[in-house]
Amino acid sequence: MPIYQTSGFVFDDPAVMADAMTRPDGPFVYARYSNPTVRALELAVAGLEGGAAALATASGMGAVNTVLLGLLKPGDHLVAQQSLYGGTAAMINDLAARFGVGVTHVPENDPEALRAAVRPETRLVYLETISNPMARICDLPAMCAAARELGVLSVVDNTFATPMLCRPIEHGADVVIHSATKYLSGHSDVVGGMAVFADAALHAKIWHFAIELGASPDPFAAWLTLRGLQTLPLRMERHCSNAHLLASRLDEHPAVTAVHWPGLPSHPSYELGAKLLPGFGGVFTFDLAGGRAAGERFMSAVRLALLAPSLGGVETLVMHPATTSHRALSAEELARHGIGEGTVRIAVGVEHPEDLWADVEQAVAAAVA
Ligand SMILES: *Cc1c(COP(=O)(O)O)cnc(C)c1O
Repeated sequence: MPIYQTSGFVFDDPAVMADAMTRPDGPFVYARYSNPTVRALELAVAGLEGGAAALATASGMGAVNTVLLGLLKPGDHLVAQQSLYGGTAAMINDLAARFGVGVTHVPENDPEALRAAVRPETRLVYLETISNPMARICDLPAMCAAARELGVLSVVDNTFATPMLCRPIEHGADVVIHSATKYLSGHSDVVGGMAVFADAALHAKIWHFAIELGASPDPFAAWLTLRGLQTLPLRMERHCSNAHLLASRLDEHPAVTAVHWPGLPSHPSYELGAKLLPGFGGVFTFDLAGGRAAGERFMSAVRLALLAPSLGGVETLVMHPATTSHRALSAEELARHGIGEGTVRIAVGVEHPEDLWADVEQAVAAAVA
């Protein structure tokens, strides 16, 4: 796919140009509306997710905001699962504080709580297939079915699972969101987002709003994401198998007090995950004996893995949720999420598994020495 590095497109006929500005599937007219490279990415991701149409955005948060602001107005209400990506949680708090949108939080696996939370003014329920950083798996079939029964749209952030592990539309979701920055692009070299719609009419409505909001992606970013997508199945397999190896060995390590990866039977989402997903993802957390100081020593000691934010790229990245992604949470909220002072998050890359284990093992040894 070429990179169409242009902001606008030339027409012969003024009527055709005028018409193009009103149609999400019409001829290309202006790059904030659409662009051929961006459209190719939208078609590819819509196909992978089994959606009718998709909208690419300049970041994952751009997709979250395009969908939330495009669907909600003051006085509306939304139901969100308790544990959400930090940026999304902050945006939902802002919607409540500044735009008068009511918010109720429910556990990710409790359709009864969801039913009880829905009010006449509820517009949507916001879920995440696999949560960050504790990797809790959402009971999508039950939660989306409850939302649908009550006439409420379900919006699912599928960033951590990717369509290789889960296609939320098959479980009843109306909108699927991605931070394409993560696994879809896969090489830590682009920031991007996607919103995929089960229904073409809803896509058209949000496309019109997206033109006003202006979170459109650059064609080169779309091209990089398209290129990354070509290896998505291979990478996801390796992310999952590397995570399996590291999580199981850490779980048996005497210096590790807990490992939170849903592929381990001790994880609260193990049974649901085994039913719902063909793999358990590449992100997990673990706690070292020695708490925060040990966690910090671990992160300084890794050599192959890198101390960096983000996830979903080919490199293994480690970070400390309590002081970075989840810094806004009180000690009480951190505890409710299961995040300890010494909890380390590891986003497992696609390196050779034994190289990776050698690095993690020496860093654990250095951390507890
Ligand atoms: C990173 C991330 C986002 C935000 O995406 P950006 O591309 O950083 O804007 C949203 N949801 C999840 C689950 C993420 O991991």
